Amino acid sequence: MNYLDIKGWVDAAKDTISLLTAAKNALPKGEHRDDVEEKLHQAEESIKRADARLAKELGLKLCDCEFPPNVMLWRETEQTHVCPHCGRRRNKPIVSRGVNYHQR
Ligand SMILES: [Zn+2]
Repeated sequence: MNYLDIKGWVDAAKDTISLLTAAKNALPKGEHRDDVEEKLHQAEESIKRADARLAKELGLKLCDCEFPPNVMLWRETEQTHVCPHCGRRRNKPIVSRGVNYHQR
């Protein structure tokens, strides 16, 4: 599976979850609605896992404070990766200035 396959699937699945959540909210409260709610929760967890896999394939940083893991996002102003869930920071590895890989 390549990146575009996974991204397409994740996006489609998220849209589906939104629609199903709207449909679920239209149901009367009761046992049946609780059942649907639980299944939707499971589906959301699966999507989070697919998201984490996508992030890993893209080489993004993952934080292990939760499972499925959260993606650590780059904050340009702080020059660091930050976990949106726990706030953990991970600085960019220091690249040796002595080596220029782009030079021929
Ligand atoms: Zn975290």
